[in-house]
Amino acid sequence: MAKKAQINFEKCKGCDLCIAACPVGAMRKSGTSNKKGYDFVEVNLERCNGCGACYIICPDCCIDILEMVLKK
Ligand code: SF4
Ligand code: SF4
Repeated sequence: MAKKAQINFEKCKGCDLCIAACPVGAMRKSGTSNKKGYDFVEVNLERCNGCGACYIICPDCCIDILEMVLKK
């Protein structure tokens, strides 16, 4: 088990704050629009270390830090 960021992509407004805050470059734009028309972000789970910086900075509470089991 490891702590990882999970995005509620329908709530995301694509503001990029989490991309700037992530210390390991695990966040990036998905290149896909959600129902609100925003290019939402996605997480590279292999790179994410679960630090929570994105969770803290997101103004729209789109991010949870969850315990996950990664399939190899
Ligand atoms: S939890 Fe930390 S490492 Fe993972 S995506 Fe968020 S800021 Fe980056
Ligand atoms: S900080 Fe929140 S709203 Fe902004 S791009 Fe990241 S997940 Fe989306």
